[in-house]
Amino acid sequence: TQRFIWPMAQFGQIINMYQRARASAERIFGLMDEPSRLNQDPDAEDLAVSAGHVEYDDVTFGYESERGDGNPTVEDVNFDVPGGDTVALVGPTGAGKSTVLKLLLRMYDVDDGEIRIDGQDIDSVTLSSLRRSIGYVSQNSYLFYGTVKENIAYGTFDATDEEIVEAAKAAEAHEFIRNLPDGYDTMAGERGVKLSGGQRQRITIARAILKDPEILVLDEATSDVDTETEMLIQRSLDRLTTDRTTFAIAHRLSSIKDADQIVVLEDGQVRERGTHDDLIEENGLYANLWAVQAGEIDELPQEFIERATQ
Ligand code: ATP
Repeated sequence: TQRFIWPMAQFGQIINMYQRARASAERIFGLMDEPSRLNQDPDAEDLAVSAGHVEYDDVTFGYESERGDGNPTVEDVNFDVPGGDTVALVGPTGAGKSTVLKLLLRMYDVDDGEIRIDGQDIDSVTLSSLRRSIGYVSQNSYLFYGTVKENIAYGTFDATDEEIVEAAKAAEAHEFIRNLPDGYDTMAGERGVKLSGGQRQRITIARAILKDPEILVLDEATSDVDTETEMLIQRSLDRLTTDRTTFAIAHRLSSIKDADQIVVLEDGQVRERGTHDDLIEENGLYANLWAVQAGEIDELPQEFIERATQ
């Protein structure tokens, strides 16, 4: 399969893809565990998700330690994800992809604009109900020291053994788990049995299938898995994302080609938005990134390189 390399590599910078992917995954994962410093409205009600329709309405946000150039990290971002659709966030490193999703999880409050889930401003609902409704899967997934079974059931307190096995089967993980020394009771995590990146990812997918959240956040990383594992992961992800509103941060364009909507971020702003075919037709940044990945051209045209290095 084609591996996508961000144009940065062409700017002469040496980038360790693995380290970058890892750092980015850890940033997101860290934030999932981080207790929020936000105050909750005492009158907040639980979020009630029906269709899973998510709207970003003129969202602007800047970290307190702003970049120094006066521009917010995320600026006037608008997009609309109908319930059950998959939206892919694409863009160079630092474009604001992770930040856009941190705002959905309410790790930070927006400075301006509003994010709504089925019409409810996420600022006005309880944090616990918001986080319960959103599942998170990454390729550099963290497993804690505990059995495989406990790792799958993490976050779902009342899961039965049958439900755990069902989830593992749907995640294409059952076969390899069965072959572990103690099957589902094998200890995993730091001091446990060594699992490959692809195996860890399928355990997290099983966890998400069991949790059954209405909204899903996928952070694709660039770890190397063989073609068969990649196929298994893709198949289990397809099961997981069907009929579920999904946000995917993609580092490889081939994996998000079929997304209902692709949002191209650059410098905190939405530059392009549409389906793969729309964006190819538009012949802008996405189309050129795609052409590089597909090997149709060797490098990005000068205009894009100049823009990205400004
Ligand atoms: P990558 O593909 O490398 O993960 P990204 O598109 O997800 O990048 P973000 O992680 O959202 O980009 O970062 C957007 C900008 O915000 C960057 O300039 C980054 O340095 C900055 N940033 C991210 N997290 C913080 C933070 N906690 N405090 C201050 N600035 C931050």
